[in-house]
Amino acid sequence: MDAKIKDFLSFLDGSGSRFHASRQIQNRLEAAGFTELKEDEPLHLKKGGRYYLRRQDTATIAFVMGSQVVEKTGFNLAASHLDFPSLKLKPASVKTQSGITSCGVEVYGGPILSTWIDRPLSIAGKVIVHNGKDSRSELVDLDSAVAIIPNAAIHLNRDINKGFEYNKQTHLRAMISLGENDKNPLLHAVARKLKEKPEAIGDMELFLYDAQVAELAGLNREMICAQGLDNLAMTHAILSALLECRKPKQTSVAVFFDHEEIGSETPQGAMSSLLGEILERICLAGGADREGYYLALRKSFLISADMAHAFHPSYADKYDPDYAPGMNQGPVVKLNASHRYASTADSTLRFTRLCETVNVPCQKFLVRSDMPCGSTVGPIVAAQLGLAAVDIGNPIWAMHSLKETGGVKDHLYLINALTEYYK
Ligand code: ZN
Repeated sequence: MDAKIKDFLSFLDGSGSRFHASRQIQNRLEAAGFTELKEDEPLHLKKGGRYYLRRQDTATIAFVMGSQVVEKTGFNLAASHLDFPSLKLKPASVKTQSGITSCGVEVYGGPILSTWIDRPLSIAGKVIVHNGKDSRSELVDLDSAVAIIPNAAIHLNRDINKGFEYNKQTHLRAMISLGENDKNPLLHAVARKLKEKPEAIGDMELFLYDAQVAELAGLNREMICAQGLDNLAMTHAILSALLECRKPKQTSVAVFFDHEEIGSETPQGAMSSLLGEILERICLAGGADREGYYLALRKSFLISADMAHAFHPSYADKYDPDYAPGMNQGPVVKLNASHRYASTADSTLRFTRLCETVNVPCQKFLVRSDMPCGSTVGPIVAAQLGLAAVDIGNPIWAMHSLKETGGVKDHLYLINALTEYYK
């Protein structure tokens, strides 16, 4: 297996929650010699330096300082989001009934709910630990299958195959234990995992995730099946490319936003001040003034990478036949007249040329004219900062299913194109 694909599978398997995805990014940046900066401390930056910073334990900006002044060259930017639809546990709702302990959930983003049913699930997230007067937050991952959301038997729900609406309050409770008298086995399991006393565990932000590891499928192992390809795949591709970037002329920036799946309007989302602030501070740290920052923005380019819909033969009528991208046939430029995607003719040309340089095929996607279109962080960031931008992404099936399927080749194609971009 290609080393990059192997790394991608391990990236997916380590990303049970948004917090863990962010930590996976951080681990790779640290291993590649990037220095962590803090938003609440002055930035001291050197030419050729490799840096990153994080906001609220998720959103991450990583950059490699260019050899030329940024107001002359602009930034080479790429953006994605590291969150994915999931089910968030409501710890206070843990209840035991007839010897069965279950926990209610809230829905995060827009998952295909039926794909979460009757599957072994695990639990990961962030927990506050109180230690005397001090409190700290810790990531926790229970790692193995610890929960299941069972269907009713078909005998009790005869019409289920005609379509069934799961009630989010009542039908999605995760069964976590049988026959325990212990009042809160969830709390105890988290405490055990962190080697802490249950009394020390405070507020928890825990999410269910697919306990089955990411896998290759297909007769030639040409597909990748995993939770969260949207958008951990683009996050991994951008990150892999940036890690290869050494001594660029232009300052190369990767930004991984949180909260895209719930509208981006949070301090760590694409609507926040995060990217604009950091780009301006990079300019100021390099000796430019605010005018220099504006000049830099005008010369910058943004590749916004988020997954696209691959042609699905069983639902062929859902696609515009002229804009239905095939899997393993290269990254997709996403276009929309209402600018739900940031791509323009100019930015499309720039991206397709980039792909040509490294012999990567490139496709186009348009949603059918009689169907609504999705969106990405691209238009938000492009509008806020006035950037030239293109929206691209690799094609997958079953976006927002617990198990999405993408192409192995596409992932490698995009890493190649982005590596060239950051050169
Ligand atoms: Zn997405």
